[in-house]
Amino acid sequence: MKDTVFIESFEERVKNTIEKYRLIEAGERVAVACSGGKDSTAALYILDKLGYNPDAVIIDLEIGEYSGKNLENLRGFCAGKGIKLHAISIKDAVGHTIPFISAAMSREGFGPCHACGILKRWLLNKMAREMGFDKVATGHNLDDEAQNIFMNFVQGNLGFCAGLGPVSGHAEGGMFVERIKPLYFCPEEETRRYSQIIGFPVVYEPCPLSADTFRTFIKGELDNLEAAMPGAKRNMADNLVAMLPALRRQYKQSGKMRKCRKCGEPSRSEVCRACELLGRWG
Ligand code: SF4
Ligand code: ZN
Repeated sequence: MKDTVFIESFEERVKNTIEKYRLIEAGERVAVACSGGKDSTAALYILDKLGYNPDAVIIDLEIGEYSGKNLENLRGFCAGKGIKLHAISIKDAVGHTIPFISAAMSREGFGPCHACGILKRWLLNKMAREMGFDKVATGHNLDDEAQNIFMNFVQGNLGFCAGLGPVSGHAEGGMFVERIKPLYFCPEEETRRYSQIIGFPVVYEPCPLSADTFRTFIKGELDNLEAAMPGAKRNMADNLVAMLPALRRQYKQSGKMRKCRKCGEPSRSEVCRACELLGRWG
């Protein structure tokens, strides 16, 4: 497919996803959760191009040069497009860098992404709600979603699938800012091609802490499956979307939502997972 045709069809698919799943309603304020990578930069670029006037939000994870470069790239990109950027350092927010937290957690047998994922979601929700955003768009693509589905199935966590889909998170009592995934049906390979054609200033190497995680293993298995059965990842996402209403009905009542006793963020237990984690280091 020629580059110009590819770009058009990619953007059209994102536009259709936004419209079909009503990811953004008229007048809503949208923040794009950026990492400085190709996926979230593509989401930011397309939402801006489609006229949604997004702001960009980045949590500086302080993973050495990798985070520094991502932040620098995103600052330049946003300045060039006139997009407002909100940056917050994880160390300023919680007192520690992600390498420190990951190393501490690995001594307890957890993978490097365990704490990072919990803290990013927690901080992003808190920031987005305090800044008055109606939606947070992420750069999750089709491969990410297929990996999430596959991981939940093989780990026996079907209930977690209820939180997936093009719109995830819950709007319960206004405590959660809904997270939306405009690139939901865009395979990673296509997002990479899109990013390279447009020439986004992004780092293509993965996060240095991501090696050897369970997700990396699952990604390899899914890539093999896709090579043998083209369309497998898309079928997984389509089937998940079809099952979502039933999944959400079934798993909705598992634990009442309340405010975390320590931070006031939404939690199913007295203390949220982020505060429980952070409590380990005083
Ligand atoms: Fe955090 Fe893991 Fe993602 Fe690196 S790969 S940014 S450690 S969740
Ligand atoms: Zn808390």
